[in-house]
Amino acid sequence: MSKILVVAEHRDGVLRQVTYEAIQAATLSSAENDQLHVAVIGHQLESLTESLSRIDAEKVYLTDHPDLQQYNPEAYATALKQVIDASNPDGIIFGHTAIGRDLAPIISAKIDAGQISDVTNIENVDDQVVFTRPIYAGKAFEKKVFQSSPWVVTIRPNNISAADPSDGKAEVENIEYAKPASLRTVIQDVVRNTSGKVDLSEAKIVVSGGRGVKSADGFKPLQELADLLGGAVGASRGACDADYCDYSLQIGQTGKVVTPEVYIACGISGAIQHVAGMSQSKIIVAINKDPEAPIFKIADYGIVGDLFEVVPLLTEEFKKVLG
Ligand code: FAD
Repeated sequence: MSKILVVAEHRDGVLRQVTYEAIQAATLSSAENDQLHVAVIGHQLESLTESLSRIDAEKVYLTDHPDLQQYNPEAYATALKQVIDASNPDGIIFGHTAIGRDLAPIISAKIDAGQISDVTNIENVDDQVVFTRPIYAGKAFEKKVFQSSPWVVTIRPNNISAADPSDGKAEVENIEYAKPASLRTVIQDVVRNTSGKVDLSEAKIVVSGGRGVKSADGFKPLQELADLLGGAVGASRGACDADYCDYSLQIGQTGKVVTPEVYIACGISGAIQHVAGMSQSKIIVAINKDPEAPIFKIADYGIVGDLFEVVPLLTEEFKKVLG
């Protein structure tokens, strides 16, 4: 029997969707009698306890301390290492999120584990767990197995279907945070970018703008369409570099990786570094006035036209359908 530890993520008292996906990933990577453990780190975690206890896990480890209110790599790595010592897992699963991408390698180094990042699929083949991840900016996939345990993986959000809440009450164990003598970095303040209503990395619909949007104001019709569809706005690095929008919206190799149901690329040429962050979207719609733009090669639907005409038209049509 082996044990899989899922590292939960939460925000504003709510578990993030990727945590339920990681729990499902744990199920896919384990055999029948394996145990699921969940680590929850933060401060004032009472609001989460109930939803966590509805997860079909054997154990939930809670580490609650004021120093863990905000993500701090050193503090979180210390807290998580304590959980790992208590849980003694064979495998650890993180979301491939800003936190997971940062924390997973620190933990892998601490516990001398192999790591596979950005996993999009997990299969059990002949009693071996096979992890699939995209390579070459999504142009190919590689399948990997671990030769030893413990192992660490990060899973790409929106790829593995989320586990349903269940009645399986988990045993909750509190782990007292052994605060390091001193932290090399301390979070003093978190300034929130409140522009997006929907979290970009978890959005089901992403409306993205590139240099073709031409100005910060040019993003307004995109935001209107995204709001109507309950989606989020993203951007190419071209748009971010031109100061049309914040870098937190950048999608691509050096930005966020998104896998929405629908990705609408407006005025984006389709450079390989951008495609690396969105090519796994279920449906790709491209709006570009250049019929030769490379984005059309990966688009399921292409509209050759001026985005300032096409996007408002789409919004009007969706308004009619959605009421
Ligand atoms: P452009 O390539 O200038 O394309 C603009 C498009 O808009 C054109 O196709 C044009 O036909 C179209 N257009 C113009 N006006 C209109 C209109 N009115 N209506 C419709 N279409 C219109 N890029 C990323 O996006 N993400 C990354 O993470 C990233 N990382 C990088 C890392 C490295 C190491 C390097 C070297 C580059 C990286 N880049 C990244 C940059 C990338 O190479 C491209 O330069 C960038 O993606 C181009 O952005 P763009 O498509 O918005 O701009």
